[in-house]
Amino acid sequence: MQAIIIVGGGMVGLSLALMLAKLELKVTLLEAIKYPDYQAQGGETPYHSSFDARNTALSRRSVEIYQELGLWETLQQYATPIHQVHISEQGSFGKAKLVNTEEKVESFGQVIENAWLGRVLLQSVQKNAFIELIDGVQVTQLSQDKNKVSITALKDNHEIQLQSQLVIAADGRDSFCRQALGIGVDVHDYDQVAIVTTVQTSKPHQQVGFERFSPLGPLALLPLHGDYRRSVVWPVKKGTEQEWLGEENDQHFLDALQQTYGDRAGKFEKTGKRFSYPLSQVLAHQQISGRVVLMGNAAHTIHPVAGQGFNLCLRDAFVLCRYLAHQQQHGLDLGDHEMLKSYEQARLSDQKKVIFFCDKVVRGFSNHNPILKIARNTGLLAFDLIPGVKPMVATFAMGLKA
Ligand SMILES: Cc1cc2nc3c(=O)[nH]c(=O)nc-3n(C[C@H](O)[C@H](O)[C@H](O)COP(=O)(O)OP(=O)(O)OC[C@H]3O[C@@H](n4cnc5c(N)ncnc54)[C@H](O)[C@@H]3O)c2cc1C
Repeated sequence: MQAIIIVGGGMVGLSLALMLAKLELKVTLLEAIKYPDYQAQGGETPYHSSFDARNTALSRRSVEIYQELGLWETLQQYATPIHQVHISEQGSFGKAKLVNTEEKVESFGQVIENAWLGRVLLQSVQKNAFIELIDGVQVTQLSQDKNKVSITALKDNHEIQLQSQLVIAADGRDSFCRQALGIGVDVHDYDQVAIVTTVQTSKPHQQVGFERFSPLGPLALLPLHGDYRRSVVWPVKKGTEQEWLGEENDQHFLDALQQTYGDRAGKFEKTGKRFSYPLSQVLAHQQISGRVVLMGNAAHTIHPVAGQGFNLCLRDAFVLCRYLAHQQQHGLDLGDHEMLKSYEQARLSDQKKVIFFCDKVVRGFSNHNPILKIARNTGLLAFDLIPGVKPMVATFAMGLKA
């Protein structure tokens, strides 16, 4: 049997490769960027385009997936559970609170640094006998006929030719493979840029996460490994990001956080370097073409407001593996188009719910119309007071209804 080809070794491509290897399926993973050599770098966790300065809130379902892969014990060394989530709007009366003991769950998820998640995934892939990892290789051509997909890639100015009955394109938001297949996209530019960093506060976080809707944009403050460290994701209007980036703006940034949060987190004492990410929603018109599947951001890139994007991608990958396991057990074609279409169909409902939810939260809270503001506050109060609403939202956020 030919190896399945995955194009793109970001967090999704690496996770998927490990899931396929668990089924004892052979994988060839092609990544454009040269991975860091962790051994040469000592104990440091250098950045890579995908597992970078960001932190990821992993849902309960994602944690379960990593447990099944036998990775959770290592990952959790630098993960922090979320026991409570406080949601509020600056200068308004509405607020809501999710508490793990009330919802009878151990936690709502775990926050992990991408640098650590990426490093653990990469090292597991490098050790895995079912996975051939080729990094520093750029896929430049993709074509297919009834029986196979052909790929041309460039490594050190040399062309490599590869073929497989199944190619999974996890090559990110601007996916080359998606373009090569002629698959169109719906793009919505939120006109926002996410400012991302880690801060230190005088009060310990006590595993509490905050989502605060401020006039500048929705600000997420999540607990990180180390009692006083917190992750910041702050989407601000595009064009205003320079105000917050750069060492010279450290104090200005800390003051803005202080003003937004008041005393909830104590004093904002230190900030790390800030990084910026343009935010848009990019949805592929189709996720299957012949023997190729779009996966991860290549299929759907969404706003990070609710920390759902990667979790959704992991659930997609998990379900695809179930379909492939069935094909493998029955000696059937792994790239069978009808089977892949069934996978796509099976994922649509979960994807639509998450995409709809994230988009509505961003648009709903970005509008300064006073009537909408009252509606938002009433909504937050209703969320807090009406029985049954919170467990429903908690289940959704934990990624358990896949
Ligand atoms: C600020 C921010 C915060 C976020 N927080 C969360 C969160 O808390 N929880 C959550 O669930 N999600 C979160 N997300 C979403 C999450 O980061 C993404 O869903 C995830 O990174 C998608 O990974 P990916 O592997 O699909 O894409 P990418 O990370 O873009 O990886 C694609 C890879 O493909 C490679 N590649 C591209 N072209 C080629 C080619 N031609 N040949 C070979 N290789 C190629 C690239 O080098 C890259 O490594 C957040 C996103 C942002 C922007």
